[in-house]
Amino acid sequence: MYSIGVDVGGTGIKIGVVDESGNILYRGNCVTDVTGGFDKIISDIHDVIEDIIDQNDIEKNQIKSIGFGIPGYIDRYGKANCVNLNWKKVDFIQKLKETFPGTDIFAENDATVAGLAESRFGSTKEHDTSVMITLGTGVGGAIIIHGKPFSGAHGVGSEIGHMMIGDGWYKCNCGNTGCFETYCSATAIIKYAQKLLSEGEESIILDICKQNISDINAKMIFDAYNQDDEVAKKVIARFKDYLAKGIANIVNTIDPGIIAIGGGVSKSEDIILDGLKEMVRGHLVYKEEEFADIVIATLGNDAGIIGAAILG
Ligand SMILES: [Zn+2]
Repeated sequence: MYSIGVDVGGTGIKIGVVDESGNILYRGNCVTDVTGGFDKIISDIHDVIEDIIDQNDIEKNQIKSIGFGIPGYIDRYGKANCVNLNWKKVDFIQKLKETFPGTDIFAENDATVAGLAESRFGSTKEHDTSVMITLGTGVGGAIIIHGKPFSGAHGVGSEIGHMMIGDGWYKCNCGNTGCFETYCSATAIIKYAQKLLSEGEESIILDICKQNISDINAKMIFDAYNQDDEVAKKVIARFKDYLAKGIANIVNTIDPGIIAIGGGVSKSEDIILDGLKEMVRGHLVYKEEEFADIVIATLGNDAGIIGAAILG
C-alpha cells in the first residue's frame, strides 16, 4: 500500500507517493496559485496526483490515504486557516473528501508533519517523545508525544515560534513582539545584521552583499562568522543566546526525549550546535538532571512530503 503526501508551501506544492518504509517512490509538483484561490489550488493538486497515478500505473486501490502539510492550521471542524495563502476558514477537509472520494484525508500544520516524519524515519526516531524546531523564514514547531503529533485541544497549539522570549525590537507576523521567531528565524538573523550595518558598523558582510544590505541572506552572515567578522559574531551570539532560551523553555515545559533543529538555518550545523547544550542547561530549572539531546534534522526538504503521507 502507498500513501500520498502533499507539502503545500507558499510558492510551490510538492507531492509524493510514499511507501510504508517512508521512501518517496514518485514525485510531482506545481506552483501555488494563491491568486487563483482555494478551489484552483485544490484542483491543481488533484491534477498532479492524477498525472502521477497515470504515469506510474498505480492502482487507485493501492492508495490508502492522502495527507497534507499546510502553512497554517486546521481547526476542529476541518477548516483551514493559512495567512500566506489567503485561506480563512476554508472548508478544507470537506472539499478534499469531495475531490478524492473513497480516500482517507488528513491534514496538519507543515512544521508538525516535518516533525512527525523525523520521529518516524529521521533524526528523532529512537524517541517516542520529541520536538522539532524548524528555523526558516519563520520558526515552526512540532511536538510529538508517544509517536503522535500534538496540536492541542483546539488544533492551535505547538506554535513554538511564537513563544515570547524577550522584548523584541520588531513586530512578529502574529502581531506580538518578542516571539522566538523574531530572534531565531533566518528573517530575524538577517534583520538584526541589517540593523547593525545600517547603524554604521564595519563588516565584511557589506563586501559579500556588494553593499546592497537588502540582498543579505542568512548564509552570508554564517560565512562572515567563519571569517571572524565582528558583526556576524554579534548576530550569531544573539541568535544562539535566544535559541538556547527557547529550547530551555521547551525542556522546562515538555521535557522531550530529543530535540531536532531543521529548516534552512540548520545547515550551519557546527556553528549552531557548538556549546548549545550547555547554554540550554544554564536556563533549566533542574540543571543537574539529564535532558534532551539536541540534533540536526536529517530528512531535509522531503520531511514535508513524508510526514504528510504518514498522517492518520
Ligand atoms: Zn509571533
